[in-house]
Amino acid sequence: MKSNTLNFSGGPGALPESVLEQTREAIAALPETGISVLGMSHRSDWFRSILNEAELNIRCLLGISDDYAVTFMQGGSSLQFATIPMNFATKAYAPPEYVTSGYWSGRATSEAAKVASMKISWDGRATGYRQLPALHALDVSSSAAYLHYVSNETVEGLQFPVCEDAMPVPLIADMSSDFLSKPFRPELFSMMYAHAQKNLGPAGVTVAVIKRSLLERIPDGLPAILDFRTHVSHGSNYNTPPVFAIYVMTLITRWLRFDVGGLHAMQSINERKARRLYETLDSLGDAVTVHADRCWRSQMNAAFTFGDSRLDEAFIEMAREQGIVGLEGHRSIGGMRVSLYNAVTEQAVDILTNALTEFSLHRV
Ligand SMILES: *Cc1c(COP(=O)(O)O)cnc(C)c1O
Repeated sequence: MKSNTLNFSGGPGALPESVLEQTREAIAALPETGISVLGMSHRSDWFRSILNEAELNIRCLLGISDDYAVTFMQGGSSLQFATIPMNFATKAYAPPEYVTSGYWSGRATSEAAKVASMKISWDGRATGYRQLPALHALDVSSSAAYLHYVSNETVEGLQFPVCEDAMPVPLIADMSSDFLSKPFRPELFSMMYAHAQKNLGPAGVTVAVIKRSLLERIPDGLPAILDFRTHVSHGSNYNTPPVFAIYVMTLITRWLRFDVGGLHAMQSINERKARRLYETLDSLGDAVTVHADRCWRSQMNAAFTFGDSRLDEAFIEMAREQGIVGLEGHRSIGGMRVSLYNAVTEQAVDILTNALTEFSLHRV
């Protein structure tokens, strides 16, 4: 198998082989225009149709109504960490509240603190970021501007269960690493956002789905590029958008709708992959420690260690010889991390789990 199909990287991550093939062709020349996608104008009819299709695909996959705007922005999720409080933490409401459950929500929390007065509703530090709270049990002020959380902690490998309860305040989620990996109830959220490079395509574009009624809260006076209304009113084409990244994201959402068959089908595949991986890790007993407590284990990212960095490195090296790549843990916690994003195939997971079992039989 080629390394492209054995890419377990935390992000940018694996892309479906069929999308890579179409992308290769589009870089040479788009079938529709005869021009390379890298040189296509963002004001062309072709790009307008791509933007429309990307939006339509996301609307269909999520099943969202016109109460929500779908926009494509730049700056990654990190820019959202700053712009969300700029847009929504207004004086008319009590300070927004943040769930700090790991590396990325920690970044969201500290960025918000620079922009607005805010409150931390829950901090997982005491658990070593191995556990998550039940969102509905948090004591959130009913006048808070919003509650922010990260639905899947990519670094630690913790994932919230799908939200089932309406919150008393607008709920905003960074879904960067599990967006479109399974169905959820979008109507429970006021805003959900995800950059593309985990599950949706190459880096460069961030999808934000925002309830239109929330846009009315945005104060005037923000720089245009930081004001979410700019991107909504210009149809995600205010300044030059990342045409290439949006094109590949459109191919991915097309693949999800028509090749995979939607989010329920994607969920079944993702569940099988995660089950296979965790069963293998558990079968190795004390030789392996999974970072997350069992009930919070993520279906998208598993962070684990053989308990000795030399063993972790030896496995990463052995795997690399078999073409398996992207297993290094995030620099903040070390160890190993396996990311099972949508484009990672079940066959690839089989190859990885066989390598894990083989390694632990002979080396651990
Ligand atoms: C990777 C990641 C980020 C960082 O996003 P950038 O696009 O690099 O700013 C933010 N949130 C989550 C949940 C992530 O997994």
